[in-house]
Amino acid sequence: MAVLVVGSIALDSVKTPFGEVKEVLGGSATFASYAASFFCLPHLVGVVGNDFPKEYINLLKEKPIDIKGLEIIAGETFRWKGYYDFDLNTANTVKTELNVFENFRPRIPEEYRKIKYVFLGNIDPELQLEVLKQVDKPELVIGDTMNFWITNKRKALGKLLKKLNVLVINDAEARQLSEEPNLIKAGKKLLSSGPGYIIIKKGEHGALLFSETSFFSLPAYPLECLYDPTGAGDSFAGGFLGYLAGVKKIGRNQFRKALVFGSVMASFSVEDFSLNRLKRLRQEEITQRYNEFVAISHFENFKL
Ligand code: AMP
Repeated sequence: MAVLVVGSIALDSVKTPFGEVKEVLGGSATFASYAASFFCLPHLVGVVGNDFPKEYINLLKEKPIDIKGLEIIAGETFRWKGYYDFDLNTANTVKTELNVFENFRPRIPEEYRKIKYVFLGNIDPELQLEVLKQVDKPELVIGDTMNFWITNKRKALGKLLKKLNVLVINDAEARQLSEEPNLIKAGKKLLSSGPGYIIIKKGEHGALLFSETSFFSLPAYPLECLYDPTGAGDSFAGGFLGYLAGVKKIGRNQFRKALVFGSVMASFSVEDFSLNRLKRLRQEEITQRYNEFVAISHFENFKL
């Protein structure tokens, strides 16, 4: 099953209490498509500069990820520099260099336009809206954003929310976007802004799923070795959408399972810098961790 993934492809420089990396492969579309590729065939749309290392292109191609929609243009690749303190839930941005993204207009290749499952990774919401103009009645559109765009492009973000089926957002961003400190109220408020489902990711505290008719809360996997949270949100989205793209009929249970698969992929992604852990990941490890998730959060028979 095919999914369309649009977002940033980046060279990240990241410092955490456990190490530091410079100009390594990152970006919302990169993490999301790599994680999704364990479940389906992602079709990537994005832009990089002509300084983008060839080995990174090969890494994506080999997975396999269809990169026909990846534009390579003269100029420098998008760069993000950030750090995390011991509270690994908060990314501190030092520098965002949009570079080739500054004048980028996503062009969805003709053969991608009928893809039914779309992930709009964290990029300028105006570009996310442009993508939606080019696709032909997708069944499920999932969107992500971050504080940078909530601060700078709130109006465009408002328009985008009306067109999303699912918004995936972290706790701090949910509070900022909804202007509501209580996360439950924030989730409900965001539901009324458009999307049928809201997922609030709480890092090491798990994730919440809101819809008009149901609420679901999943704990985080009890990880002891967490090196770099960068890309957790996008790996989550990739696993979530990748799983849903493969099911026959999407209902409440499938959404909940997708939340588990998303959390599984995020938990692997943070075990090393960049895509290093996902590069070593084997399919059977995904199944095993999924089952561990079920075991740690299952208390059906406890009902009084
Ligand atoms: P997350 O999954 O939320 O940790 O996202 C991590 C990725 O977001 C990093 O690999 C960055 O390259 C990318 N990123 C950071 N800032 C931006 C931005 N303003 N627009 C798009 N992508 C960004």
